[in-house]
Amino acid sequence: MKHDKQQAKLDSIASLITNRAVDIELAKSCLNPVPGEGSASAELMMIGEAPGAKEDQLGRPFVGASGKFLDAMLDSIGLERQDVFITNIVKFRPPKNRDPRPVEIKACMHILHQEIDALRPKLIVLLGRHATNAFFPDLTISEAHGEPLVRAIKLGAKASIQQTFLPLYHPAAALYNGSMRKTLLGDFAKIPQILATINKAKL
Ligand code: URA
Repeated sequence: MKHDKQQAKLDSIASLITNRAVDIELAKSCLNPVPGEGSASAELMMIGEAPGAKEDQLGRPFVGASGKFLDAMLDSIGLERQDVFITNIVKFRPPKNRDPRPVEIKACMHILHQEIDALRPKLIVLLGRHATNAFFPDLTISEAHGEPLVRAIKLGAKASIQQTFLPLYHPAAALYNGSMRKTLLGDFAKIPQILATINKAKL
């Protein structure tokens, strides 16, 4: 029942995105908007930066080279894509894969908040510096990666909730960088233990 309600909320948020209901140029210029996807009862939510070329073509998050790497990392901790919920801060591809602009991130943030509110994940993994800085503007990813952080976030008009986050390097940055890749794999391996600790604390 709870799952069905969450699914219905996530479906209506996905329609907002596919209908390009955000007032920024990217929403018009992209080929396909990219809503979040995955399980409506996932404990784990992963937030990337913005769609790349492949995601823009297919209208799905993390389906290019960094998505394959992400799938392999999920597999390494016994999870599949359908066990988690994967989304991006910005739902529309920035041209030529440029960084999303602060104004674009700001314009999409309320949609991300709606996704978080519908899912209420136990843990949010922030992939890369843009996702990390959207919630922790003063942190640098090189210092913050791999350590869980708890922060109060306010979702729409509702009271604040306490949310646990885990900043990680972005898979695209780590893909061809040996030492960053090793660090990312090591940080990723901490996820099951962090989730277990959160679940134990909430019992
Ligand atoms: N990089 C991202 O941050 N998101 C995607 O969906 C694909 C690549």
